[in-house]
Amino acid sequence: MISVNLSATATMKPAFSRYFSHPLRLSLALLLAAVLAGCASAPAPEPKPKLLVFLVVDGLPQRQITGYRDQLAPDGLARFLERGAWFSEAHYGHAFTVTGAGHATVLSGAYTHRNGIIGNEWRDAQTGEREYCTGDTTATYIGHKTQPLDGTSPKNLRVETVGDVLRAADPRAKVIAVSGKDRGAILPAGKRGTAYMYMAQSGQFASSTYYMQQHPAWVNSFNGRKLADGYFKTQWKPLLEEAAYARSLPDNQRWYGPRGGALPMLMGSPNDDAPGPAFYSQLLRSPFADALTLEFARAAITGESLGQDEVPDILSISLSGHDYVNHQYSAESRLSHDHLLQLDRLLQAFFADLDAKVGRDNYIAMLTADHGFMPAPEYSQAQGRDAGRVNGGQVLTRVNDGLEKRFGPGNWVSYSGSSLLFNRQLLAQTKVDANALAEEARALLLAEPGFAAAYTRRELESGSAAGRPFFEPMRKSWHPLVSGDVQYILKPYWMFGTGTATHGSPYEYDTHVPILAWGPRWVKPGRVDSRVGVVDIAPTVARWLGVAAPSSAEGQPLPLPN
Ligand SMILES: [Zn+2]
Repeated sequence: MISVNLSATATMKPAFSRYFSHPLRLSLALLLAAVLAGCASAPAPEPKPKLLVFLVVDGLPQRQITGYRDQLAPDGLARFLERGAWFSEAHYGHAFTVTGAGHATVLSGAYTHRNGIIGNEWRDAQTGEREYCTGDTTATYIGHKTQPLDGTSPKNLRVETVGDVLRAADPRAKVIAVSGKDRGAILPAGKRGTAYMYMAQSGQFASSTYYMQQHPAWVNSFNGRKLADGYFKTQWKPLLEEAAYARSLPDNQRWYGPRGGALPMLMGSPNDDAPGPAFYSQLLRSPFADALTLEFARAAITGESLGQDEVPDILSISLSGHDYVNHQYSAESRLSHDHLLQLDRLLQAFFADLDAKVGRDNYIAMLTADHGFMPAPEYSQAQGRDAGRVNGGQVLTRVNDGLEKRFGPGNWVSYSGSSLLFNRQLLAQTKVDANALAEEARALLLAEPGFAAAYTRRELESGSAAGRPFFEPMRKSWHPLVSGDVQYILKPYWMFGTGTATHGSPYEYDTHVPILAWGPRWVKPGRVDSRVGVVDIAPTVARWLGVAAPSSAEGQPLPLPN
């Protein structure tokens, strides 16, 4: 193109020199010459990575990485912290920080208000029927029993992911996602990727009929190895000497419940003589399901030839174990501390294999989390904080009782995601004003101990409560077509239910997650302390892969170290 223009210019030389005799025109000519010279001498553009390895550690708050940094292996998480880019102030912008919402955000760059995944489960806004974030009764697991609310497809995901854009641009690109949880695989895989999830009924990995009718041979041969069974009657033992755990809470805290929790921990019940569903589920609450997930990822790299040609691929790996451990024992526990160290060593071995199989100069690894974690309320109380537990069932009964007093008999509201959903049929029959109902429901909710804020559909739709506490993150967790009518949050350090600890709030402990990247050819090392959002990941990844950001992405490319 340029050479054609230059030769055309040469044949028009007299007119050309007359035109550029004017000083301004001459400077334009010099500028043009400089630009052309720059083009000629510019180095060839950096080739795209052959593979993006996208890691999500389920339920990993940023504070756990910094808290145990000195105990990390030389080339696990430390590869990111010491030789990669580390975004130390990365946060979720949505309020309801749960697995479905987080995994729907990471590769779409869009929070719940756009992606439509308002939680892990909710109720259909019109019918009140229960829905699961990745539920789809038209698809079933391959070779496994499937319940109506099991996760089998991305039907409810309303946005595209980086992988969708990549595969639309070039169908030869492969997008494979694997996780201990169906939602951890299905949502990052988007509409055009392929998801495989751990089956707690069998210890195997399966895809669903949304993606394929039967597994490829490499999946069958992986499952044929029955690797999960190899952990039966083995122990999860602490990795380091006892003194290394002085900074975390000792085992068997009273809030772990009657079963307690301590290392070493036997996998499988002493009475069982063969592995079964209870044992396969237990593996999820240990480092071993993560070891299996990474082993499946290795098999996927070989089986699908990921990162072996010039067309970039994506391998998304969501490691679920940490979330199960933190729910059961909390992020402050010795069990969680050790779990992170075990995970770190698993990552180190995985990186070594990636270096060998794909090549250090051919891939980018990125790591984040779908949400952080709160401390156990009893622990927070012992620290002198206002903390507590909310009995959600009792609250709902009292709210409905209060609504009956004013609006007449009926079951007026139910929980849906992080909102109260109106009974649409009852509303239509009684012709009660929805705004009046919302105001009353909010007043009843905020009279309950532990509730911090609530906004009505009218406020969320109009933005009229902008600037009020937590309105912005709560609005990002609210989708007009999917969510209910009064969106609420609890106070800091409060939670629903009797589990040891959970997540799902707009507070720092839940929103502050790692964003780490490594890939020496594309990512310069350094720590970036400016505040960034999880929605910034997708535009960053898209740029590396040479495709447009997903259409609903609301973030900006991350400010990489330079
Ligand atoms: Zn969780």
